[in-house]
Order: sequence, then C-alpha cells, then structure tokens
Amino acid sequence: KKELLKVDGLKQYFPIKGGILGRTVNHVKAVDDISFTIYEGETVSIVGESGCGKSTTGRAILRLEEPTEGKVTFNDTELTGISKREMRKHRKDLQIIFQDPYASINPRQTVSNILMEAMTIQKSYPRKERRKRTIELLQTVGLNEYQADRYPHEFSGGQRQRIGIARALSVNPKLIICDEAVSALDVSIQAQVLNLLEDLQEAYNLTYLFISHDLGVVRHISDRVIVMYLGKIVEIGDKLSIFDHPKHPYTKALLSAIPVPDPTREKIHIPLRGDVPSPIDPPKGCRFHTRCPFAQDKCRQEEPLLQTYVSMGEDHQAACHFVEEIERGQLKPKDYRS
Ligand code: SF4
Ligand code: MG
Repeated sequence: KKELLKVDGLKQYFPIKGGILGRTVNHVKAVDDISFTIYEGETVSIVGESGCGKSTTGRAILRLEEPTEGKVTFNDTELTGISKREMRKHRKDLQIIFQDPYASINPRQTVSNILMEAMTIQKSYPRKERRKRTIELLQTVGLNEYQADRYPHEFSGGQRQRIGIARALSVNPKLIICDEAVSALDVSIQAQVLNLLEDLQEAYNLTYLFISHDLGVVRHISDRVIVMYLGKIVEIGDKLSIFDHPKHPYTKALLSAIPVPDPTREKIHIPLRGDVPSPIDPPKGCRFHTRCPFAQDKCRQEEPLLQTYVSMGEDHQAACHFVEEIERGQLKPKDYRS
C-alpha cells in the first residue's frame, strides 16, 4: 500500500476576539492534534456529529484554512511547508466536492464553460482539446453532450452534483475530498451518486476522503472509518471493525441511532444525550465524559490515548480508558433516565 496522504499532529484553532481591544481571548479548538494516513486507492471516511471538526480537517488539508499546527504530507510533498503559490500547483491533485455544488459554481456559466474554466486554471489540457474533454467528462459522470451548453439551474440536484464531480475530475486529481457530497440528495439519488463515485474510483485509481454525518452513506462507501469527537479522533479502523465491533462508547452511540441491517443481531443501545460541548473549553480528560454512560473518575482527569486494545484487531484503535472493561461487561452503562 502506498501512503498518499499523511496528517500528523494537525491542529486547527480559530481565535475568538473579545474586549474593547479586540484581543484574542480564547480559541475554538476545532481540530486538536489528529494524525492519520490515507493509502492510495482507498476511501476513508470521517464521521461524527456536526461541530466535531470533520469539515475543518478537510479544509486544513487543502490549506483553504491555514492549519495552526501539524504536518500534512501528500505524495511525499509536505503541503504545510510550501508557499501558497506552490500549493496552487498541487491543487489539481487534491480536489474537493461540497454538499451544494450550486454554491460553488457560477450560475451564469454553461456547464461546458464551468468545466473548461477548471481546466484553464490548472492548465491541464491544451485549449483545442478542452471542449472534447468536456464532452467526455459529462459522459463519464452520466450526463450527455447535449447538456454541455445548458446552465446549472436547468439541472436537478443529483445532476448538479454530477457536474461538481466532473469539474473535480477535469484536472485529473489523485485525491478527492467529498464534504457531505451526497447529504442534500434524496436517498435513491444518493445511491446513484455513490455508485458513480465508486466506478470512478475504479477507473481512475482515485482516493477519497469522505466526510459525512450519515452512517448509512459511510457504510456504503468506506474502506476505513475515522470517528471524530470534539476535534479528536476517538476511533479508527476498517469499516467492519467500526460497524460490527465498535469499541468507543461514542461510536457505539452513533451506531445506536441507525437501523441494524441484520435484525437478528443483538444490539446494545447507548443513547447519545445532549449536545456536543463547546470546543472553546472542551471537557478535561476524555472529552466525551460529559455524555458517556460509562464515565468514571479517571475519565474526568486523564485523556485517553488512541491505541489498539487486546480485544481489537491490529489496524483498529480507540481512545477510551475502559475499552476492555466495557467489552467484558464489567462496566455497565449508567441509566440516565433516572
Ligand atoms: Fe467513556 Fe471514559 Fe471511555 Fe471516555 S474514557 S469514552 S468517558 S469510558
Ligand atoms: Mg472503494
């Protein structure tokens, strides 16, 4: 497996200004020291409730927002160490697709102009070939040449997302970050777009970082899954480990909220109570302790490290002091209803 993207100790703190002098009085710790690797050709998802740092992570990788600390290495180039100008050259290798493609495309341009513009900016195709390439791209994403001279508003949400995908593909990227890319679509259209993404991955050896709060979508598309909570990675593993053998109480709670595909399988229900606490002053110790039904004194004092426990496979890690005790049933969830 070739390492394509390596994120090392990434932090993204946003200053909060206050007082009459407008000084920085505090920080929103949106991403707080996370590390992970993505290998070529795989799909890694980041899941978690909104406000857990998923999108911020995607934006920091692309330096759409300058990371506060940490290293991002892509294909042996340290992106965090190069100039903004040099970074633009690498932007053809790393593309991003957003939830609402309409928000990031110019409504007054035809589809073919939108695609040709992307190719022009990245100088990825000689001028004469751009129109031909545009038609090919439309066909690749399931649209046709007769749609090339139409405007974005003439397309449905799913078609617009296909245009967004075509635009990302137009520069031959290696990695595509999909930030809630199918979240706004109806379930049946979602499945079509996910299938398209999978076909394109096969055809062009693409690597995806898939950011989503929707675990059904994540189960469909991922090879590996990263679970984030309040700026930290709390669990990481291959899809089956995460969905069938989750170890972190937060992951278990997220999964409790979605239907089980196999209803004969026993399912422990862990309710996810309340909201995500503020990332300005995250809880001490384990950040999940204020909502965790297993929390002990140790959880309120010591931060658990992301590690592999005895009951886990080697590529599976969780950050919880009591993985084994919970696994063996020695620690029972507290009943919060009382
Ligand atoms: Fe819950 Fe404690 Fe584990 Fe955090 S470390 S998830 S509070 S049991
Ligand atoms: Mg795949």
